[in-house]
Amino acid sequence: MREHNSRLLWCHTLDQGTVSSIYAIQDQAVNTKQHQRDILKAPVDGKCRLCVTKDESAQHIISGCEKLAGTYYVNRHNNLVQYIYWCLARKHNIDVSPLWWHENMVQPQIKENNQAKILWEMPVQTDITVRHNRPDLIYIDKTNNKTFLIDITVPSDYNIGGKEIEKLSKYHLLKTEVSRLWNTQATVVPIVVGATGIVAKSINKYIEKLDASIDITILQKQAALHTTNILRKVLGDTVFVNNAHTLNSTTQNTTQQPEHISQSPHTLDRSDIHTLATQTQTVRGRTRGRRRRDTHTDTIQSQ
Ligand SMILES: [Zn+2]
Repeated sequence: MREHNSRLLWCHTLDQGTVSSIYAIQDQAVNTKQHQRDILKAPVDGKCRLCVTKDESAQHIISGCEKLAGTYYVNRHNNLVQYIYWCLARKHNIDVSPLWWHENMVQPQIKENNQAKILWEMPVQTDITVRHNRPDLIYIDKTNNKTFLIDITVPSDYNIGGKEIEKLSKYHLLKTEVSRLWNTQATVVPIVVGATGIVAKSINKYIEKLDASIDITILQKQAALHTTNILRKVLGDTVFVNNAHTLNSTTQNTTQQPEHISQSPHTLDRSDIHTLATQTQTVRGRTRGRRRRDTHTDTIQSQ
């Protein structure tokens, strides 16, 4: 899997703290309770400090904890959906904010003009019962009579290949129904970005189907930024096993993308979680929680 990552060549504009965190996750050098129990042989039970049911590995924190699913994972996911939505809208001259992260959207919604129609979180009505009838985005290219059922996911790094196949299968029936009912050529487009930004080579062919101007590295960077913030919020100053990894430049990010990880984590209320910085907007649920850029930098480590 590392070959798809090219050891973070794609994230050269990320701050050093984020890069260090991603290295630590990939090298399994994160000071989780599981690490303390199994590697350091410390007298701890190794269970996650949030859900207290699963072992607290780095992969569990960044993609597998039920206590983070409804908030942080949703925000990370929605962030990627928003970027792709914005690119498609711009491609067809649908009115959007000049900056993708400034787009203020309330889901579900439909945007349409004479060229295209984009549905966000909209279920499709079908003749037969289709269980999975609501992909993240449905993009209809009216000019070419093509319909794209786009579903985006940010799984564990170990599962990006499996997720792609899972999404293709999940929406196969919907694709068939949409093709028939709308008299269009429908395609399922899974966009899978690993939690640390790793992607499979196959993502290129899916992006090309949609819009070549979509920058895959933005998807990767956004996933990585959200993931490292999740890790810091859960583990605080004890992220790394080895102090050689220092988080010394998290306020120096100069990328054009925002680090707007600023939601109030409803599920993070245990006493062993470090005080969260930058709580400026509450999360409102799975299909909502749109964000604005309300901080210029990630100030978590400055606390
Ligand atoms: Zn957990």
